Amino acid sequence: MQDFSTKLLAWYAANKRDLPWRGTQNPYKIWLSEIMLQQTRVEQGWNYYLAFTDAYPTVRDLAAASEQEVLNLWQGLGYYSRARNLHFTAKYITNELGGIFPKTYAELLKLKGVGKYTAAAIASFAYGEAVPAIDGNVYRVLARLFGEYEIINTTKAEKKFTALAMQLLPLNDAGDFNQAMMELGATVCKPKNPDCLFCPVAEMCWANAQNKQMELPVKKSAIKVRNRYFNYFVLTDDNSILLKKREGKDVWKHLYEFPLLEKEKALLEDCSEFLLEHFGIENPTFQQLTPNPIVHKLSHQHLHIVFWKVTGRVKSFENCDFVAETELSNYPMPIVLANFLKDVLQISS
Ligand code: SF4
Repeated sequence: MQDFSTKLLAWYAANKRDLPWRGTQNPYKIWLSEIMLQQTRVEQGWNYYLAFTDAYPTVRDLAAASEQEVLNLWQGLGYYSRARNLHFTAKYITNELGGIFPKTYAELLKLKGVGKYTAAAIASFAYGEAVPAIDGNVYRVLARLFGEYEIINTTKAEKKFTALAMQLLPLNDAGDFNQAMMELGATVCKPKNPDCLFCPVAEMCWANAQNKQMELPVKKSAIKVRNRYFNYFVLTDDNSILLKKREGKDVWKHLYEFPLLEKEKALLEDCSEFLLEHFGIENPTFQQLTPNPIVHKLSHQHLHIVFWKVTGRVKSFENCDFVAETELSNYPMPIVLANFLKDVLQISS
């Protein structure tokens, strides 16, 4: 399929977008960009990438930061486990590998938070290793090109699509080829309305010939969304707000939040009981600070959030701290809480 890669690479050379991480062969910067762009639009990731490479120009700089600083800079990008894994892996590379990035796909795959796609992207972009990097865009391109109806995101599909990609991959130009496939998927072979008229490989494409573009790729039926109901209590004292660090296996691990009662249709009695038990507050009064629950959508969860201002004396608390309003910007928070502070309480965090 030399004809395929020749056409694709010529198109890529002439049409690729000018992105801040494009063209670098620095494995640290490739790793950063690839982790940031998972589940994230390019426009959204752009400024975060610039902020991270500015604050932490090398893997050693990232390792030297605290997790709290890293999460703070990540605030708003979502999927916070990516930031925690980045920081963990930066420390591992610095402390255990002398600051030297692994140089092969197999070695890269051993890093925490680095899956097959990311390992292949780093190995091929930085070192030219001939491994196909197959992200969602590339799955779509391959499925349409070959008329492959296997359900994607399964182990069986992974093997099939890797074999298909290997048929196309030029062994001496794997980095550019992988980036070109992703670019084709992102800008031409789009999920809806692919621009087949302007596609450099249209004449070799099964879906285009059969007019079956919209049937491919085949995906598993959507995962059921779980609804959760969060009641947040805003407890203040002398221009300070009570915050708690989230722990455990749940969303937003190690971010900070207000005291939380998770309960559907919580009555004021439930709230009073919770505040008495955890904070010793007797006879609190409540003011609902947003007229309706805010619905914050995560990939598999919809959080229905109500913010309550509580009046009453806090007599005791555990694993929480009153944080001065002027210090809030040092505390990473879920974006929905940061927006609440800014928009409703007019405090920047
Ligand atoms: Fe995608 Fe159309 Fe190109 Fe086929 S011809 S790869 S469906 S854009």
